[in-house]
Amino acid sequence: MTDRFAQVALPLPLATPYTYRIPESLAGRVAPGARVVVPVRRRELVGVVTAVSTAASGGSTRDILAAPDPEPAIPLGLLAIGDWIAGYYGAPIGPTLRCMLPAGMWGESKDDASLAEAAASERVLALAGEPPTLLERGGLFRRAPRQRALYESLEASGGSAQVRHVVDQLGFGEAVIRGLVKRGLATIARRERLRDPFASLPASPTPERLTGDQAAALAAIEALSPGEGALLFGVTGSGKTLVYLEAVRRELARGRGAIVLVPEIGLTPQTVSRFRGAFGDQVAVLHSGLSEGERADAWRLLRRGERRVAVGARSAVFAPVQDLGIIVVDEEHEASYKNGESPRYHAREVAAVRAQIEGARLVLGSATPSLETMTRAGERLRLLRLPVRVGSRPMPPVELVDLRVAPKVEGTGPLAWSVALDAAIVETLARREQALLLLNRRGYAAFLHCPDCGEVWQCPRCSISLTVHTAPADLKCHYCGHEEALPRSCRACANPVQQMRGVGTQQLERVLAERYPDARIARMDLDTTSTKWSHQRILAQVEAGQVDLLLGTQMIAKGLDFPNVTLVGVADADTGLYLPDFRSAERTFQLLAQVAGRAGRGPKGGRVLVQTRHPTHHALVWSARHDTEGFLKQEREHRTSPPYPPETSLVNLVVSGPGEVEVGRRAAEVADWCQALIDRHALPLTVLGPAPSPLARIKDRWRWHVLLKGPSDSLGRVVRYAAGRLGRERKTRLAIDRDPVTLL
Ligand code: ADP
Ligand code: ZN
Repeated sequence: MTDRFAQVALPLPLATPYTYRIPESLAGRVAPGARVVVPVRRRELVGVVTAVSTAASGGSTRDILAAPDPEPAIPLGLLAIGDWIAGYYGAPIGPTLRCMLPAGMWGESKDDASLAEAAASERVLALAGEPPTLLERGGLFRRAPRQRALYESLEASGGSAQVRHVVDQLGFGEAVIRGLVKRGLATIARRERLRDPFASLPASPTPERLTGDQAAALAAIEALSPGEGALLFGVTGSGKTLVYLEAVRRELARGRGAIVLVPEIGLTPQTVSRFRGAFGDQVAVLHSGLSEGERADAWRLLRRGERRVAVGARSAVFAPVQDLGIIVVDEEHEASYKNGESPRYHAREVAAVRAQIEGARLVLGSATPSLETMTRAGERLRLLRLPVRVGSRPMPPVELVDLRVAPKVEGTGPLAWSVALDAAIVETLARREQALLLLNRRGYAAFLHCPDCGEVWQCPRCSISLTVHTAPADLKCHYCGHEEALPRSCRACANPVQQMRGVGTQQLERVLAERYPDARIARMDLDTTSTKWSHQRILAQVEAGQVDLLLGTQMIAKGLDFPNVTLVGVADADTGLYLPDFRSAERTFQLLAQVAGRAGRGPKGGRVLVQTRHPTHHALVWSARHDTEGFLKQEREHRTSPPYPPETSLVNLVVSGPGEVEVGRRAAEVADWCQALIDRHALPLTVLGPAPSPLARIKDRWRWHVLLKGPSDSLGRVVRYAAGRLGRERKTRLAIDRDPVTLL
């Protein structure tokens, strides 16, 4: 007698799936991609079927206990992507598939809690009957122009919209809606309600006419074959968002869906509201503020094709959009697209693979593309340019203020504040315009040190200095959250005087409040945005003109489009310049270019002042010229010897554990077996290390790493080998980081 068996991936760090027997009663529901409940030791776990096979019965294989999905939860395309991720990044398949489904769907329960969850309903207005021709519309709507406007808005958003959206955001009254319904041109139905806080964002109107450059870029995107991709390289303010919107609109018109990835959804409310404005309730916004139930709602609506556009951060690349036509990756250079834990995938690379598997177009957009992407442009990617700002607005002039020699104002404590930046702020305030001030270091001061013996306060659990915070006043570790009271005297030499070094945003805020007492000041950094919707609140105040000076960390550098911002000041451009990481120059360039791009977006123009002690560093020089290509060309030269990506590829093997000696020894072992593998197969790879990571300890775990360099396909063989050895670890763990975005 033959039995059927299923390979089941479990949410455990196992390299391979487990095999279970399929009982006759479940035969119809156990298929690749379906969730099943299986026994694991004495527990029951939810897993996903990766394959089904037939074989002679025998052995002690256990039975699948339940199969809740009438249709596989994970569609085959996504299952193939999970396979690719597991193979390429050396990640266990179970946890990889786990990222693809909302957490609720991995619950321990056998019945389908999240799918069956009773959802409240909402009223939806949908077009009905044959659409009248343009000529007929003239007569039909002669005395009802508002009805025509509503009819055509519904058409533009794919034929239906929530009544609430129509009233609140599109501004149509109940009478207009009733009019359309009475004439049989539309109907109102009840549908499950989408509980999405982003639904209440105001819809921004979409400008109607594409510029010539935008139209050319759109045409080139349309001309891509399925699976092909393009880089939309457009300066800040060149109108990339409208190109994405129109490209998505065309896919929707063909009945296909779209995924739009943004780096951090809380920071891009303007982009999100433009997609909402254009496509109304066809959009599912996937953001971290959603509850588990809301996330499952959004997932289910996408899976059923009732939402066609998914907008979200990194993990939205797994959104179960049906008939995927296009994937947009906005700000493709952002490091947040790389997942920081296993599976350590890069959403941009997953997007490229998904586009190929599902026959979708891929659009990567940035004003400051990563060196990797720029290198691919012209080869695997079409290069599309938007070289000028919309309305031919000039790029704002950038002045580098050399803090070593520039005249400074007095009374700002340890903060170096140039006369030039001070005067620019005073003028901006006098003209009732707004300024953004960037300082990419949160807290009050970077560290506390003893001027007598040099002692620096370090975290007891991490090899990093503690940051000084006020309100409440204490020392905080930015890696593990450790907090302790501010000491009154040095613990090493008892000297009572302690000095703070490295000004942070809290201190900058204090100085600004003292120096510009009439200005309305807001601060945006991790400490002021920990509550839900706090980003949106701050940004809404800036938009409403209730804030004169917005200061903050890199959070204020992204995607904001405020025409009344005429000054951007960078308090200290050097905070990330000399980190021991091959991307530190690229990051600094991107940050400066992006924040500079926030100035002068309206008719009043704008200017940028950058305070630095390294005005000749290439990251500063090229950002001051708004010349991304010039920067990338020079940066490329820095990456040739010693070689770094894109000249070569990297895999970082990080060993961590509680015992310093044990971790070092294990890292040496890892380096040894890598070398042996390389020798045995004559792979063209070099092994660097083992060495302590630059951050040698985080949260009581010591960290050593082994860095492998060489061609990607050879690295792939080491990754497969290393992945096969995962899961055997006890206290010391090995992490495989392929194509790392940081080596810290
Ligand atoms: P980017 O993302 O490239 O920095 P945005 O997409 O934010 O640029 O566009 C910059 C500004 O130009 C926005 O205020 C946008 O509404 C406006 N804009 C974009 N395209 C057009 C257009 N074709 N006509 C008029 N205004 C436009
Ligand atoms: Zn710590």
